[in-house]
Amino acid sequence: MKTVTLLGSTGSIGTNALSVLEQHPDKYNVYALTANHSVNTLFEQCQQFEPIFAVMLDESSAMQLSLKVKAAGLLTQVLSGAQALEEVAENGDVDYVVAAIVGAAGLLPILAAAKAGKRILLANKEALVMSGQLLMREVETNGATLLPVDSEHNAIWQCLPVGKSQQYQYEGKGIRRIILTASGGPFRDYELSELENVTPEQAVAHPNWSMGKKISVDSATMMNKGLEVIEASWLFGMSSKSIDVVLHRQSIIHSMVDYIDGSVLAQMGNPDMRTPIANALAWPNRINSGVVPLDLVGIGRLDFAKADHEYFPCLTLAYEALEAGGTTTAILNAANEVAVAAFLNKRIKFTNIPVIIEKVLSKQTASSGDSLEQVLADDKKARYLANKYIN
Ligand code: NAD
Ligand code: MG
Repeated sequence: MKTVTLLGSTGSIGTNALSVLEQHPDKYNVYALTANHSVNTLFEQCQQFEPIFAVMLDESSAMQLSLKVKAAGLLTQVLSGAQALEEVAENGDVDYVVAAIVGAAGLLPILAAAKAGKRILLANKEALVMSGQLLMREVETNGATLLPVDSEHNAIWQCLPVGKSQQYQYEGKGIRRIILTASGGPFRDYELSELENVTPEQAVAHPNWSMGKKISVDSATMMNKGLEVIEASWLFGMSSKSIDVVLHRQSIIHSMVDYIDGSVLAQMGNPDMRTPIANALAWPNRINSGVVPLDLVGIGRLDFAKADHEYFPCLTLAYEALEAGGTTTAILNAANEVAVAAFLNKRIKFTNIPVIIEKVLSKQTASSGDSLEQVLADDKKARYLANKYIN
């Protein structure tokens, strides 16, 4: 029996993870569920899973939840605040931590889980983009296990010669390159000139995946793929030159590893996040996920095309940030979070997202990024600058 904390349980990844967990009550029990301010969803999850703790970042939401939990006669204890997120991630009773908070807010609880030597099922790619250096160091020093839930990285992980022990360095080990697949998002068939007037509603309507708003916009700009290049670089110890992106509109091949003998290994499946979640939960074994079997004949064909950097400037910005190193990727991430929020609030146009990020990157000097204080300070400064340019 493994005990699981789910950070961000009310989101898209969180609810998919609970859908896998509920199929295996004999293997996993839920220690803590956490959310920002979705009181009703978290309350329903508490009723179903009866966790020891439920954490709400927002204090007044926590008070509302606490009243509901007591009225329902549940034993779940309700906590609030960022510190409580760390406590339920590092607690000695916890074996696995599903990291499904969106954005920079996920970083500190993930670091706490790493320091406590947990198995971390990582969906929150922003943590590695902000501070891959620090997170990988904590994972390795404290014997934590970092398993990717992001579908591309989980695919690569499955195509690497990992065996039963975790490794994070693959450059020069018989691998020519990692090939990340990208669906191209909702605007893949638009003309460049049409992008200027696309709306947030259009941007969050992803053709293949149902996801939270922030990552959906990231998929539309392809910043998501850029963040994933950076994520792959840290997870697998590969340089930017050994990571390629190819457009694959069906999202059936989730990514590939190209070996020097000419073998290319791919992982395939329906686009359903319960597959990578179940894989990371059960690794090195396998469990049912509830995903319908792949119907290759029904799909009929798999298409591939070049990822055009002119059409997707965010991809270029991410590669450049990775090559620049230090906190450049933290600055990229922070500016992107602010720009995406401004686009979702209809304060800037879709095509201004890369413009704002580029301005912040060109204005701000990065630091080495080998301390958390530096990362957090550079993150804060980038947010300030991005807001300034938006206003
Ligand atoms: P989401 O917006 O659907 O859910 C986010 C969760 O985090 C919610 O439970 C929310 O309550 C919580 N949260 C939000 N802000 C918070 C804060 N400041 N402090 C504490 N909790 C907070 O997002 P999602 O689509 O589930 O994505 C979660 C993460 O997983 C992201 O980093 C995303 O890039 C990554 N990811 C998602 C998918 C997907 O299919 N949705 C795929 C790959 C990777
Ligand atoms: Mg992905």
